[in-house]
Amino acid sequence: SNPNYGKTDIGPPHYWDMLPDIIKNNYGKWLFHEKVKPGVLKHVGESGDELFTVRIASPRLIHIDTIRYFADMADKYSGGHLRFTSRHSVEFLLSESANVDPLIAELDAAGWPAGGTGKALKNLIHTQGWIHCHSAATDASGPVKAVMDDLFDLFQKDDLPAKLKIAMACCLNMCGAVHCSDIAFVGVHRRIPQVNDYGVANGCEIPNVIASCPTGAIRPNPKAKSVTINEEKCMYCGNCYSVCPALPIADPEGDGVAIFIGGKVSNTRSGPAFSKLVIPYIPNETPRWDTLVKEIRKIVELWLSDAKKHERIGEWIERIGWEKFFEKANLPFNSKLIDDFTFSVPTFRSTSQFKF
Ligand code: SF4
Ligand code: SF4
Repeated sequence: SNPNYGKTDIGPPHYWDMLPDIIKNNYGKWLFHEKVKPGVLKHVGESGDELFTVRIASPRLIHIDTIRYFADMADKYSGGHLRFTSRHSVEFLLSESANVDPLIAELDAAGWPAGGTGKALKNLIHTQGWIHCHSAATDASGPVKAVMDDLFDLFQKDDLPAKLKIAMACCLNMCGAVHCSDIAFVGVHRRIPQVNDYGVANGCEIPNVIASCPTGAIRPNPKAKSVTINEEKCMYCGNCYSVCPALPIADPEGDGVAIFIGGKVSNTRSGPAFSKLVIPYIPNETPRWDTLVKEIRKIVELWLSDAKKHERIGEWIERIGWEKFFEKANLPFNSKLIDDFTFSVPTFRSTSQFKF
């Protein structure tokens, strides 16, 4: 058994109990893995055992019947074993190679195509959106569905310049991996919270409300037993609304989406990189977010046609230069874009390499 096995009396069962036998038997003894075809990976152990992984995308917010369906597929083809990845993909872990194609065919016929492995578009990750979170400036499921529908062909490929990770967060609190994704879109508020004096006076802890603001924009308003918000200092984060519902920030007309690009976590080729702001605002165009979809497609097409082998979007832009990227993408540039908001330390914009 696993020497690291720890005993707990609370929480979920230990992961070791959930592993397929083939993984337990080859734990720490995998020799290599290879890509069989889009959506299928093969791991080979020292023992000669072969483990096949079939990956499909999920929309993250899924019905209980869908989870039951996945479980039925796992019972039928993979000894009851599946896992959800951190990008909301579903992976079936098979020890029988003969089961791979029948599983893919059955999933595909039910509308769950395999893909997302290797140099492909990965499943989009996203946060809660209007359906769950109080501070959302945009929806999650709606724009993610529209973007993924448009880019779906890239999910079933393995010949992109590099992997392509797209993330979305529905407000600046950014519960998603927006800071380190190739392309990210983020919900943005553009109006300060609307102070309801009666609600603040009767329903909120004023010291807490003041302390909740990261920029010190909130001051007491003793006359009204409420607060005031300094518009110049507010950065529309919605933090105060989280502690005081009498400070609503949502604005159906003005809220929208910003696009950041070029982020990634570190890998064997290069270190981590933060995403940079390239389009500050696109309105919420329900139900299909047409402009957002169009702009993301444009950026992806540029990368596909211009990048060298292995270059992630940020690596490609670093090579050609950010100013060139804005030119090629026909995007307007202003001083608030690309990097930080102050010049207290030397920034990208203040170096002689930056040509705008
Ligand atoms: Fe809520 Fe913002 Fe997180 Fe979306 S990103 S789930 S709106 S806190
Ligand atoms: Fe402060 Fe954010 Fe509230 Fe603006 S939205 S007042 S920055 S907490």
